[in-house]
Amino acid sequence: MTDMAPPPLKPLPEDWSKAVAIVAHPDDMEFGAAAAVARWTGQGKSIVYVMVTSGEAGIDGLEPDECKRVREQEEIDSARIVGVDTVEFLGFPDGVVEYGLPLRAAIADVVRRHQPEIVMTGNFRDRFGPGALNQADHIAVGRAVLDGVRDAGNRWVFPEQLTDGLEKWGGVRAVWAAGSPEARHGVDTTETFDKGVESLQAHRAYIDGLGWEDFDEREMLEGFGRMTGTRLGVAFGAPFEVYSLTWGGTDDD
Ligand SMILES: [Zn+2]
Repeated sequence: MTDMAPPPLKPLPEDWSKAVAIVAHPDDMEFGAAAAVARWTGQGKSIVYVMVTSGEAGIDGLEPDECKRVREQEEIDSARIVGVDTVEFLGFPDGVVEYGLPLRAAIADVVRRHQPEIVMTGNFRDRFGPGALNQADHIAVGRAVLDGVRDAGNRWVFPEQLTDGLEKWGGVRAVWAAGSPEARHGVDTTETFDKGVESLQAHRAYIDGLGWEDFDEREMLEGFGRMTGTRLGVAFGAPFEVYSLTWGGTDDD
């Protein structure tokens, strides 16, 4: 260990039973977080996936209509591998997602319908790390997730949603952003690591479409997983930045 070694990560709490993961694109959960999802569903927790777009602008050689069909199916297959049986697609346009009221309203609606204790999203900081710029949809979605989750708890915000028995939901304890460079928490994914690899491999058309020469899903996930695992004192791990929603709570909760 040198002075440059990143600080240790704290284990995330596991005393919850329901989470929703809201991300911009099919494949966002699979680039690192899926093994954590497999661990939690293996503990009997319920996790729902919500894709803000269908990733239809993600494959250069494929027209968006066809691409949407392929990528939605890949995500459904990928989710099933890690124990997630419900995948919703909100239908926002891939590549040009805007932070704003329509997105916040859609997210508030998701939270009110599913009533999760934890909401996950992807990293929405400007970068993933030095030299690795984040992407516009990720940033817009993450910001809107933080706000939409709080909107869900206020009956006077998006009140038109509160019909047919749908109620406000203020029970979300925290938003967890997977893969954030500011992560101070992590989860041991050693036991479910292979499920995470399999889950990423389900995105066959997408990965082939990227045209990355010699790209190996396992190798990439092992590299990231080991870095985080070292900070947790285990073989493999997944990092999350915690945004506590309890007033006066700290992000260490
Ligand atoms: Zn993405």
